[in-house]
Amino acid sequence: VRFADFGLSPDILRALSEQGYEHPTPIQAQAIPVLLQGRDVMGAAQTGTGKTAGFSLPIIQMLLPHASASTSPARHPVRALILAPTRELAVQVAENVKAYAKHTPLRATEVFGGMDMKPQTVILKAGVEIVIATPGRLLDHVEQKNISLNQVQMLVMDEADRMLDMGFLPDLQRIINLLPKQRQNLMFSATFSPEIKKLANTFLNNPVTIEV
Ligand code: AMP
Repeated sequence: VRFADFGLSPDILRALSEQGYEHPTPIQAQAIPVLLQGRDVMGAAQTGTGKTAGFSLPIIQMLLPHASASTSPARHPVRALILAPTRELAVQVAENVKAYAKHTPLRATEVFGGMDMKPQTVILKAGVEIVIATPGRLLDHVEQKNISLNQVQMLVMDEADRMLDMGFLPDLQRIINLLPKQRQNLMFSATFSPEIKKLANTFLNNPVTIEV
């Protein structure tokens, strides 16, 4: 299998070949077609398996038909939200998303706690389609009306087991209550504990389970 077989946009394929990626990893080969069909996914995958591209590439592809080159912030509502437990993971995922989307009009940014909110606010207010966030800081931006989540159509919970371990469940519930009911949900976790299964049952709609 090659990335070109998935029907991804030439702009995405170009970014992949610039990264030197031609063949999908096993989790990418399983996740990408299912996500492009619009299905919810529960993925059991560790870091190092290529899971980030596994969810980022379909997100970019799904958002592309509506992507606007306009500089008006109103034309760049947040349409994909990726939640991560730590600043390090948020930064790393955002770097990946930006690299894969670099030949498209889509914009992405990361927001995380422990630093001044102002630079993040400027970027959010200018408009971004894809936000990669730690849960607490995202809610701070929501409270300050720096971001609106009412047009989010894709939600990713990355390293969901770590988010539960870190006590983010109440924040996750608050965030999900702010999202449109109609949306695609993805959850990635290194483990399949009873708590993770419960979270999946609550937030995912008839998910396809992928294990690598
Ligand atoms: P991840 O599990 O998402 O953290 O990815 C692990 C590493 O594999 C990262 O350094 C990626 O840049 C790299 N990677 C992801 N997909 C591919 C691929 N299809 N071919 C080669 N390297 C990849």
